[in-house]
Amino acid sequence: MAVDSSLSSPLGPPACEKDAKALRFIEEMTRNADTVQENLLAEILRRNAETEYLRRFNLGGATDRDTFKSKLPIITYEDLQPEIQRIADGDRSPILSAHPISEFLTSSGTSAGERKLMPTIQEELDRRQLLYSLLMPVMNLYVPGLDKGKGLYFLFVKSETKTPGGLPARPVLTSYYKSDKFRSRPYDPYNVYTSPNEAILCPDSFQSMYSQMLCGLLDRLSVLRVGAVFASGLLRAIRFLQLHWSRLANDIESGSLDSEITDPSIRQCMSDILKPDQHLAEFIRQECETENWEGIITRIWPNTKYLDVIVTGAMAQYIPTLEYYSGGLPMACTMYASSECYFGLNLNPMSKPCEVSYTIMPNMAYFEFIPLGGSKAVELVDVKIGKEYELVVTTYAGLCRYRVGDILRVTGFHNSAPQFHFVRRKNVLLSIDSDKTDESELQKAVENASKLLLKECSTRVAEYTSYADTSTIPGHYVLYWELSLRDGERQPSHDTLSRCCLEMEESLNSVYRQCRVADNSVGPLEIRVVRNGTFEELMDYAISRGASINQYKVPRCVNFTPIVELLDSRVVSAHFSPALPHWTPERRRR
Ligand code: AMP
Repeated sequence: MAVDSSLSSPLGPPACEKDAKALRFIEEMTRNADTVQENLLAEILRRNAETEYLRRFNLGGATDRDTFKSKLPIITYEDLQPEIQRIADGDRSPILSAHPISEFLTSSGTSAGERKLMPTIQEELDRRQLLYSLLMPVMNLYVPGLDKGKGLYFLFVKSETKTPGGLPARPVLTSYYKSDKFRSRPYDPYNVYTSPNEAILCPDSFQSMYSQMLCGLLDRLSVLRVGAVFASGLLRAIRFLQLHWSRLANDIESGSLDSEITDPSIRQCMSDILKPDQHLAEFIRQECETENWEGIITRIWPNTKYLDVIVTGAMAQYIPTLEYYSGGLPMACTMYASSECYFGLNLNPMSKPCEVSYTIMPNMAYFEFIPLGGSKAVELVDVKIGKEYELVVTTYAGLCRYRVGDILRVTGFHNSAPQFHFVRRKNVLLSIDSDKTDESELQKAVENASKLLLKECSTRVAEYTSYADTSTIPGHYVLYWELSLRDGERQPSHDTLSRCCLEMEESLNSVYRQCRVADNSVGPLEIRVVRNGTFEELMDYAISRGASINQYKVPRCVNFTPIVELLDSRVVSAHFSPALPHWTPERRRR
């Protein structure tokens, strides 16, 4: 479609009139970032003036940034826990927000071992939708012709519960996919997916994945982009294909759906899509039965122009594997978001993963930034290029000056809106999928397993460290243990050490256990026992590289290849968790 040249945007010529409007919106917001932020905070403060939380700080009707910042403390989830619990228990008075809390979004960040509950209000769905609506107009600036085919996206809903007061508690994407905004989205040639809603919305992860993969195979030549939310999810899909290609090919050959797919709505919609295709079935068998899966994505979906998947932050560990399976396709990280609120988007989505920067959209929430090592938070437009900051948000749903826990580095500006490189999440030691394990959680897990070890064979764990092993799909946690065995003492039995693995898994937080049990996105935890003296060698190595002897502490997680290699070369035995830990969707009360 020819686009009126007067619609041209500083970001580039839009692909269609709808895109022009979206790009203009981005320009307007980023040009006026400071005013947008000032007005947005005033609106939140006006609206929530009578909430219990804001009244506590005697703003006296003030809605300006200075008063707000001088009277309200910067807080963490733990500070808000009592208020959140009351809302969860059914208190409908305006505690945090004048608008009723419509549901809780369950974050992958945990508190006391359970997912954090983020309050949200109905209209936040519009704000999220708005950010989604900006992604394709930006992508179309870089990749032409995306309206000529489809996206193969592996999207899933997860289990949800109700709080004691009856509010739904579920992950933000589950909430979004189940909403009318997603289910009844109007036809948009730039956003056609191979996966039918019925497959995405099926709560059984096997049936959902199976049918999404089947649809992707049936429509393989239409696929122009392949994606999942996070890199780990896309690799899980590839692993699924490795395990189930033969069944999928049989279905394609016979034109009938595998009997394990029992969901009636999937069966109904697949009956329209699935027709016998001997030729395609043969092709899939031929491609999948070989040992070599290098470039499998482009072999099966040859028209794929890019992978749409987040590979920044903890997901960067998967870049080499994705490159291998995709034959080096570009990986687009399009947005940066959380359960607290959606933050922004990547205005240059085809940039290399290491160069990805997200532009925070000033209309999403009120943002402040604490310089690393400092305490005074600065405004969105006042951050400095090259500096690192911790992100603090004030949301429409009632979080005020809330520390998200993400560390970001400023890389530049688009107009007056800063662009950030995602550096890391605070306090995360180990992560494979959406699980995040911090040092104290790991310590507690090792302590619990050590008790078992001590009870069964009077042996102690002298030292330990850990490693996120992603060389297999799914990845898994590896714990290196050095045991305090006296001369001539025998190592504990394989059975005991295996049970120590399970004991550790039982001690880890609920997101870890959900990944293990419901999502199968984390594999069994492994203990590798190393021979005596290994941790001393580790120290020698660190000191030889400049560490101070006085200040040396055993790192509780390692990822530097020479260190992992050193540890691996000293392994005397390896043991895996023999069973799944316990997990149910229900939350434990504090
Ligand atoms: P959740 O609260 O479970 O939705 O997780 C949100 C967190 O995921 C954010 O605070 C970040 O730590 C991380 N995250 C989200 N988007 C990105 C991204 N594009 N790159 C890196 N990390 C991200």
